[in-house]
Amino acid sequence: MKNMLENLRRYQELLLRIRQLDHELTTYPESIEKLGRELKQHQVAVARSEEQFTENSDQKDRKEEYLVLCKENLEKFEQDLMEVTNQKEYSAVLKEIDSTKREIQETEGLIITLMESTKQLETDYDQLKTNADQLEAAYNEAISGFQDTNKEKIKEKKKLEKEKRSLEKEIPAPYMRKFNQIAAKRSGIAVATVSGECCSACNMKIRPQMVNNMQQHPEELFICDNCQRILVFVEPDGDDS
Ligand SMILES: [Zn+2]
Repeated sequence: MKNMLENLRRYQELLLRIRQLDHELTTYPESIEKLGRELKQHQVAVARSEEQFTENSDQKDRKEEYLVLCKENLEKFEQDLMEVTNQKEYSAVLKEIDSTKREIQETEGLIITLMESTKQLETDYDQLKTNADQLEAAYNEAISGFQDTNKEKIKEKKKLEKEKRSLEKEIPAPYMRKFNQIAAKRSGIAVATVSGECCSACNMKIRPQMVNNMQQHPEELFICDNCQRILVFVEPDGDDS
């Protein structure tokens, strides 16, 4: 029985450590989560900047197309001017020429402004992209560091799971059932130790009579009066406390 209690206690330890490892393996540290959030913000800014750049340069392209059209019109009007037959037609064409020239001048001005802002947007984009790329490299490095640490943990988990399976074969089925029933009701903890005079799980003082009985009858199963967990007595001065 003493051996069996030890097995139950070890089994409990394994379950808790495996649970903790599972949590650690699936949860990024806050420092990585923070980097990830920053990276996302930067990537959004890069995308927005790229959109603005594209929009601006599209607008410039449209203005350049319009400028070509205006210049064609001007040529056409200048051609017309040679072919007018009266003063009225002459004035009308001249008016068209004037307004087309104004339009060309305005459009050229707009194109220069758009070229300048496109250039500025391109510089902004490059800067944002460089920052985002640096952040992404730092993030990837942190992730791979995390995975390196995990390699050790995965190894440990495999080892513990193997030990857990062999203990499951050693512990008699009725005790295994009892363990599982208690664990299901008590957040996974079915076994508590008594070192000195308190239950390690609920911290309640164990009746001295029961502590005596536990020491004298290591072959019996004792249950904590307060939290109903299986109690395993360990020597207060031992390494096992
Ligand atoms: Zn207890």
